[in-house]
Amino acid sequence: MKVMLVFPPLSAQERYGKHTTNLGSLPPLGLCYMAAVLEKAGHTVKITDCPVNGFTLEDVKKDIAEFSPDWVGLSAITSLVARASELCAMIRKDFPNIKILVGGSHATVMPEETLALSGADIVISGECEDVLVDIIEHPERFPKIVRCAPVRDLDSLPFPARHLLDMSKYTSLPNNYKRSPNVFQVFATRGCPYVCTFCASANGKFRQRSVKNVISEINLLIANYGIKEIVFWDDIFTLNKQWVHDFCDTLIKEKIDIAWSCETRLDLIDEPLVKKMKQAGCWNMFFGIESGNQELLDNIRKKTTLELIRKGVRLVKGAGIEVRGSFMFGLPGETLEMAHKTIDFAIELDPDYAQFSLTTPFPGTELSKTYEQFGVLNKDFKQYNVWMPVFLPSGYSTIEELQNVHRLAFRRFYLRPRYIIKKIMKIRNFGDLRRNIAGFKFLAGFTN
Ligand code: SF4
Repeated sequence: MKVMLVFPPLSAQERYGKHTTNLGSLPPLGLCYMAAVLEKAGHTVKITDCPVNGFTLEDVKKDIAEFSPDWVGLSAITSLVARASELCAMIRKDFPNIKILVGGSHATVMPEETLALSGADIVISGECEDVLVDIIEHPERFPKIVRCAPVRDLDSLPFPARHLLDMSKYTSLPNNYKRSPNVFQVFATRGCPYVCTFCASANGKFRQRSVKNVISEINLLIANYGIKEIVFWDDIFTLNKQWVHDFCDTLIKEKIDIAWSCETRLDLIDEPLVKKMKQAGCWNMFFGIESGNQELLDNIRKKTTLELIRKGVRLVKGAGIEVRGSFMFGLPGETLEMAHKTIDFAIELDPDYAQFSLTTPFPGTELSKTYEQFGVLNKDFKQYNVWMPVFLPSGYSTIEELQNVHRLAFRRFYLRPRYIIKKIMKIRNFGDLRRNIAGFKFLAGFTN
């Protein structure tokens, strides 16, 4: 059977807000996992990734006409659910014999609404790799909404079918790579057991691939693509510290020379671990710090303290690993004064990069159910990209007040002479210079 998997059109402005330009693209790894499972079962698969190709609905139509698939599978994140539905309507009208499948993060938490909006043949809620082949081959055996259990054995999955994409088109944002903009993304785990109320990953079942399986994928990427750098897209890479030690030991022992970065919590690290990670090639770690107010951290059930955050940042910097910190504005219970404290905290911690986003109560999160206690919510999902102000806590008088403090955060953090001098001092070659200039251009989009 022929299956075409589509990531719907999404412009840089829709992804990052109206003020910025497109400086990087990320591959649709979820679709690559689906494609790998289908190919393994003998099906012919094509992936059409609209954002990286700048495709419109018309381009997708041409692609469908050329490939002539039996099934089209669409990925729908919350901000793209309307676009995915437009695509479904086009397919129904112009290719009535093609069956349609819709999955993705929005379909997972709002399957009924996704089905009603899209009119798809099947909507998948959850991780579909274990049942996807059966669905494609025997759709009559399944209800219109298929609720899938998390994949238990991640080692049983084939490696993502990256060969269906032109991987040279995917480049990280300028401040997100060290050796090469062509950073490859890898998942070593799935699921996060923490309960942060704003987060779509919360309350997940944590599962982990074996070290051997992850190392095999890295070796394959080095052999096939000559990669120099990977980023782990896991939510909490260091939850299982022993696994990380074993992984680092293997990289060191087998002399696998790659730069890598990951994301985790600041209370899930210790000194021996970060030192080992540095030795094994880790150059950058991303942490959701969220706020400089203990009361707000408690409100969102972050289950950490300002002191643990300070200690963690010191540890990572001490090991010689760059710190990227993410901070949020418009948290439940936040006032303008508290937002200023968050900016002060970001400056005090002085990470190498700070990301300032706006609280977005995505469907399925606890905050999407309790937001009424804390403020007002705009339910236009097209704006759910964490850069647009969709949630206004009662502590603010206007949306403009929230937007202004958000912009101020970028200006106060990045336009500090100390920060600029530190960045200049770290420039070692022309590549560093180019990366920093591009990074500043990208960030400038958020300051006005
Ligand atoms: S914010 Fe991080 S720790 Fe909290 S639930 Fe989400 S992924 Fe887990």
